[in-house]
Amino acid sequence: MQTRNLINNQWIDADSGATIDVLDPATDERIAVIPSCGAAETRRAIEAAAAALPEWRSWTAEERAVPLRRLAQLMVEHRERLARLMTSEQGKPLSEARGEIDYARSFIAWAAEEGKRVCGETIPASTRDKRILVLRQPVGVAAAITPWNFPSAMITRKMGPALACGCTMVIKPSELTPLSAFALGELAIEAGIPAGVVNIVTGDAPAIGAELCANPTVRKLSFTGSTAVGRILMRQGAENLTRLSLELGGHAPFLVFDDADVEAALSGAMASKFRNTGQTCICANRFYVQDGIYDEFVAGLEAQLGSLRVGRGVDEGVQVGPLINDAAMDKVESQVADARDKGGRVRAGGARVAVAGCANRFYAPTLLEGFTRDMTIATQETFGPVAPVQRFTHESQAIEAANDSEFGLAAYFYSRDASRLMRVAEALEYGVVGANDGAPSTAQAPFGGVKHSGFGREGGRYVMHEYLETKYVSWGL
Ligand code: NAP
Repeated sequence: MQTRNLINNQWIDADSGATIDVLDPATDERIAVIPSCGAAETRRAIEAAAAALPEWRSWTAEERAVPLRRLAQLMVEHRERLARLMTSEQGKPLSEARGEIDYARSFIAWAAEEGKRVCGETIPASTRDKRILVLRQPVGVAAAITPWNFPSAMITRKMGPALACGCTMVIKPSELTPLSAFALGELAIEAGIPAGVVNIVTGDAPAIGAELCANPTVRKLSFTGSTAVGRILMRQGAENLTRLSLELGGHAPFLVFDDADVEAALSGAMASKFRNTGQTCICANRFYVQDGIYDEFVAGLEAQLGSLRVGRGVDEGVQVGPLINDAAMDKVESQVADARDKGGRVRAGGARVAVAGCANRFYAPTLLEGFTRDMTIATQETFGPVAPVQRFTHESQAIEAANDSEFGLAAYFYSRDASRLMRVAEALEYGVVGANDGAPSTAQAPFGGVKHSGFGREGGRYVMHEYLETKYVSWGL
């Protein structure tokens, strides 16, 4: 297991020798000690990326695809080891960790091929003696700051396209889940990605972030994390006019109409709400269910969430792991307490679950009826296994409630009426809409948000634009 930072293919410690403990969130056991680096090491990582840039960008897309494909293959070969490492630092059930490795791999594999389809253009000029040629070139050194909830996929979703476009990178993973990042760094070296193309620093997040934003060599910063930190980075990048992609928080509504296939809606709700113990940016955060189907849907949800197995992610069969840390638990508990105080009714769950030999960080899958707009859970991201449910009568009410949020990342709805499917999909003010689909994320689709969920798109051909500059040559004959 690699535990140090990666600069120019050298594994290094912090200049100061400072370290951070990495804990298993299920048990609080210390599983690794990693460097706590700051601005100086980040500067060196940026310099390494800048030094590697001229050579890497000169490779053809086909040449760059060779080590990228090899990296994707190595992720297949190391799948089990990577998944176990992820579960140990992040807590998610092993089955989900395996799924995340496959998902993470898909971004590398997709980008390796998509890089070959980055094309320029010729545009007819206004005069006979000119030609206009449009070139697409890598932006240069790109930085990535990633969160703990998807320790592999949030890196490869940026790294695949950035590298495929000819950019070099400095990656700052969360200090809570750095080991998955280091493991990717090891595999990148083994895959033959040249020294300096991928660099990884961990430590003092504000210091590293400030350097990544202020250093003029960094031409692009892609951030996935909270809206609060996204705002800080946008302010810090203003001086340098750093190009940004911001994949921020969400507060997904989940609408179930009377004409829905209730079984499909239930399985979509379970997938969307309880994956990663409710700690995903596209988790359903509030359910609106139409009168005619309300009783059946809510009874079904109660039955299904009651059968979920809570426990350590490493134990086979577990479906709900620990929350990431005590702050996460406090947030979940305070949202549920606030809802209860304001008249909400806990129909199932609503308390911690004791797991033998583990930290007190497991929360029961919870069904909360009668949530109202004044409750914090109605507007703040929960990041926990709590499903608040509310009735509605008319389609327009549901759409209005769904859009009544500062966030705009993902929204879901279930209906079998073709006209309604199009009407509601168009009306929802969200970047990702799951229409009869509780798991819409995939490497080829343009994932991203609107409003306070940020801007920029990751996935498919759309993400390539994030790492490319457009230049035109006006060519006089
Ligand atoms: P976070 O606190 O914003 O942290 C995200 C990353 O930013 C971590 O690497 C963190 O480092 C770093 N960071 C913290 N403060 C910073 C600063 N002042 N300057 C620079 N970097 C800083 O978010 P999180 O709690 O890890 O992740 C959960 C959030 O991510 C949720 O809001 C979720 O919705 C969002 N998310 C969004 C997407 C999406 O695609 N839209 C996907 C996944 C998650 P340390 O951890 O080392 O402190």
